[in-house]
Amino acid sequence: MSFDIQDKDVIIVGSGPGGATVAKELSQHNKKVLILEWGDNDPLDGSFRQGFRAFLFPGRSMLFTRQMLGLVRGITTGGSTVHFYATSFPVPFDMLKSHGIDIREEVEELKKELPVAPLKEEMVGPMAKRVMESAQELGYAWNKLDKFMYQDRWKPDYKFSHYGDPHQVKWSARMYVEEAIQNGTKLISGAKVRKVLFDGNQAIGVEFKKENTKHKAFAPTVVISAGGIGTPVILRASGLKRAGYDFFFDPLIGVRGTVKDIDVPTSEIPMTAGAHIQDEGYMMTDMAHPFATSAAFAAGVFRFDNIFSRKHTIQIMVKAKDELGGRLTDKGGVRKILDKNEKQKLQRGYERAKKILKNTGAKSIFKTQYLAAHPGGTVKVGDLVDSNLKTKYDNLYVCDCSVIPEAWGLPPTTTIIGLGKRLAKHLLNR
Ligand SMILES: Cc1cc2nc3c(=O)[nH]c(=O)nc-3n(C[C@H](O)[C@H](O)[C@H](O)COP(=O)(O)OP(=O)(O)OC[C@H]3O[C@@H](n4cnc5c(N)ncnc54)[C@H](O)[C@@H]3O)c2cc1C
Repeated sequence: MSFDIQDKDVIIVGSGPGGATVAKELSQHNKKVLILEWGDNDPLDGSFRQGFRAFLFPGRSMLFTRQMLGLVRGITTGGSTVHFYATSFPVPFDMLKSHGIDIREEVEELKKELPVAPLKEEMVGPMAKRVMESAQELGYAWNKLDKFMYQDRWKPDYKFSHYGDPHQVKWSARMYVEEAIQNGTKLISGAKVRKVLFDGNQAIGVEFKKENTKHKAFAPTVVISAGGIGTPVILRASGLKRAGYDFFFDPLIGVRGTVKDIDVPTSEIPMTAGAHIQDEGYMMTDMAHPFATSAAFAAGVFRFDNIFSRKHTIQIMVKAKDELGGRLTDKGGVRKILDKNEKQKLQRGYERAKKILKNTGAKSIFKTQYLAAHPGGTVKVGDLVDSNLKTKYDNLYVCDCSVIPEAWGLPPTTTIIGLGKRLAKHLLNR
């Protein structure tokens, strides 16, 4: 098999919001970019079959800790944003600034470029409304959240895109990849990068496997954007042995109850509104699920009575800020224990969520297994990369959730896009 991979200016590994943003920005300035993406680039059909392979496949996209906490990531073009809930959270500007990074300008840019806004009223589903009314009645500052959604494309009968959005209502980093391709970027999907190639201290390319055959690609600049787990695995295989230690993953639980007089449609958009209980270290939002994951969560804690009641299930997600800790194995196995303090945070969130649900009229309230969906901090700024996101090797950069230097417990996509824009400017000005 041969590929058109000659004469590239930059190789980008991974096409989540980190990699896709850098690719789009560089390609707009006529840089010749090659993206190597492990997952496929099949058109999104929104099916469970396609979604399962990309973000629920055990050992590939769904990784388990020894406490059976399930950590989810997307292995497909666009990365985890193909399956994310499209909520844009505030950026930790002060934290980044204390590490020499200012992305205010870049975040302003992205807000002009992407459709970031709270949902219009007709897009707010009955579960989100009911939870919001109940929480506000109990005195919580429970407000609508900003969403990355092209709201004018939305129709009431569209299912929410848990498994990928064929209607393109939800923004995902795949849209940036598509823009980059239109600008001349080459994408090779199904290409799993193993390591970076060096000449002395200088990165000169990468080695990757596609369809069981090894290949090499060369370019004067290499950006690794394989996500909080994928990036440290590649860097370790390339000699950066300290990658993949002391990370965060924002553990979460679902708190669920049954309400007979509600009929949650498959179009219900999750994370429409919520509250950040900062002093207790967690956030809460409404959380709708499609049948398969709803049933799996109920079965996971032996609540067989809840398996077939998706339509009448009302759920609040509680997501906590965890401490940095744990390690990844060389193959990307996740070794991290939720400690007493983190479990207590989630327990406090559970108690509050239970009160909000009871106030909606919900019965049979229970909590799900632990999950996590934002692995990061595995290649921190100030430790393994400098404030320009450069490693100790010349021409080797990292741009994704792994560079975030501290845990802050909120979904990171807006921040990652900002970092991608900033890195692209740095590479163009070098
Ligand atoms: C269900 C779910 C809901 C979420 N909801 C939200 C939300 O509402 N708001 C929010 O801000 N965040 C949300 N997130 C988190 C957000 O999606 C991620 O934090 C973000 O996508 C991380 O971006 P990234 O660029 O670091 O990595 P990723 O998006 O994980 O992208 C990494 C890419 O690298 C590829 N890759 C990995 N290894 C290799 C390799 N060896 N070779 C080549 N390619 C490789 C992967 O296939 C993937 O495409 C959610 C996540 C999940 C799973």
